[in-house]
Amino acid sequence: MSAAAAGAVLPSPAPTRYSSAGGQHATLTADLAAALLAGCASARRASELHAAAVRAGVDRDKAVDFRLQRAYAASGRLDLAVALLRRSPDPTAVFYTSTIHAHSSRGLHLAALALLSDMLSQGLLPTTHTLSTSLPACNGRGGLAVGRALHGYAVKLALSGDSYVATALLGMYARAGDSAAARALFDLMLPDPHVVSVTAMLTCYAKMGALDDARSLFDGLPKKDFICWNAMIDGYTQHGRPNEALRLFRRMLRSGVEPDEVSVVLALSAVAQLGTTESGKWLHSFVKNSPRVRLNARVGTALIDMYYKCGSLEDAIAVFDGLHDKDIVVWNAMINGYAMHGHSRKAIEMFNQLRAQGLWPTDITFIGVLNACSHSGLVDEGCKFFKSMEQEYGIEPKIEHYGCMVDLLGRAGLIEEAFDLVRSMKIKPDAVMWVSLLAACRLHKNMALGQRIADYLVANGLANSGMYILLSNIYAAVGNWQEVGRVRSMMKASGIQKEPGCSAIEIGRQVIEFVAGDTSHPRTDEIYAKLEEVNVLVKEQGHVPQTELVLHDLDEATKEKALAVHSEKLAVAFGLISTPPGAAIKIVKNLRACADCHAVLKLVSKITGRKIVFRDRNRFHHFVDGACSCGDYW
Ligand code: ZN
Ligand code: ZN
Repeated sequence: MSAAAAGAVLPSPAPTRYSSAGGQHATLTADLAAALLAGCASARRASELHAAAVRAGVDRDKAVDFRLQRAYAASGRLDLAVALLRRSPDPTAVFYTSTIHAHSSRGLHLAALALLSDMLSQGLLPTTHTLSTSLPACNGRGGLAVGRALHGYAVKLALSGDSYVATALLGMYARAGDSAAARALFDLMLPDPHVVSVTAMLTCYAKMGALDDARSLFDGLPKKDFICWNAMIDGYTQHGRPNEALRLFRRMLRSGVEPDEVSVVLALSAVAQLGTTESGKWLHSFVKNSPRVRLNARVGTALIDMYYKCGSLEDAIAVFDGLHDKDIVVWNAMINGYAMHGHSRKAIEMFNQLRAQGLWPTDITFIGVLNACSHSGLVDEGCKFFKSMEQEYGIEPKIEHYGCMVDLLGRAGLIEEAFDLVRSMKIKPDAVMWVSLLAACRLHKNMALGQRIADYLVANGLANSGMYILLSNIYAAVGNWQEVGRVRSMMKASGIQKEPGCSAIEIGRQVIEFVAGDTSHPRTDEIYAKLEEVNVLVKEQGHVPQTELVLHDLDEATKEKALAVHSEKLAVAFGLISTPPGAAIKIVKNLRACADCHAVLKLVSKITGRKIVFRDRNRFHHFVDGACSCGDYW
């Protein structure tokens, strides 16, 4: 057979034509295909070029293959990018790295790590780029372990000194909260660390509460962008130093860095902690005038949260009503606001409204309505909500939900039911729950059950410093002095101090804080003189100090004295001497209101004709003319 005949049997295909945008026809070569694919980010165009490359028989060309994968990844068709990788007969490390990058940069961390593991099992060695794109995927649970393994790999391959790898490693440790490991890498970068690393280190310290370390890095930065400001403000806000957070926010403004949405939300959260309406109003007007911050659902939620925690439910409602796109988070804030102010029916009504609008409640929604039920003793409603939560909405109750239920049942006197609920829980009950159970036993004088619970706690080593007073009260009430002694020695042995009660009062734009027995204020003498005067007056009104709230090993007179100097009483006394007659007094306390102070504050509102707005850890009390808005149910 001649060569010509063979050619007739196997005709060479007609040259493939490629129609370019200009309408000219050219034969598609591998080089041309690769050139046309460069920078392509449209899935449609990539697949057109892909088809043309297949027709021209150049799709298996390495450069074409790689660029196609890049184009698919850039256009978001990660499935096709991965398909190309899988089809490639011998994919290179670069090919893999590019696919890993496509996933990790989109937050598809597990997929990115799976590709990495695939690559390593093919015997391909990671490059610096592979490591620096894979490390950001070491996130969440188990991320630190994988990150550490990659660190080891980097050291073994002598790549850990590369600045991109080092930065990525530091970022990985910082995100995982391993500040020591992050710091070790950081120190290697001195004296000239990249700003990305400084920011990561600063954020890590701030997140972990190492605020002084964070602050010294922050102060050392010659130029601070808003990310650094936000990280530092966030640290203060998250770790109970709202005053500093707010001060820093004001400094940020003065320094000429325009706060963004995150900064404003953080500052609002700081104000919410402080409960200072003046600062809150100022921030609200800042939002209205800011060129950068829009009053969207997120900022709106922060404003609602701030206003109701500052005691102004009316302002919170006004913000809520003015918001256009209300998502469930906005509704949650408002429901929790109503609950905290004791407007329980309104909170429940809101729940029905949001359902009518087709919104789906979240676990936070249920904390709101259950709190509302608990604050008003709505047992039936509370039980209904609690049941529906799991059965209708598929939301598994968390410790907070159980806490609300135990509170609700316990206060209503259904202590056995509350105890049963605690024992039926799938999660471990926390100390707060036991304390509220014990408190309910004391409130309803069910000492038998109280003792059973106390025995259970002591036997299982669950008793802690927060419960000691309650435990010893219960044992004392049933005359079990041996146990009283045991509890007391446990308390001494534990050495743990109860979180000290602290009350803050806002006078003008200043916030003054008091702890029990505080004598640090320059006007201490006047404050104590006023307190003495108030004490005489409330006793004349028939108030009997509730000395059973104080630990037993003191005599009556000492107990009375201990009660008399509780932080909220000092704050009220200071409010009385430093504001004009008739002005309302606003106090924020970090713990739950104690029964004695609650009774005294009611009487003070009657004697002085002042309105006292008191926020405790759980809710608001509005004391007016001898009565409290909570109806003595809190
Ligand atoms: Zn008190
Ligand atoms: Zn009250």
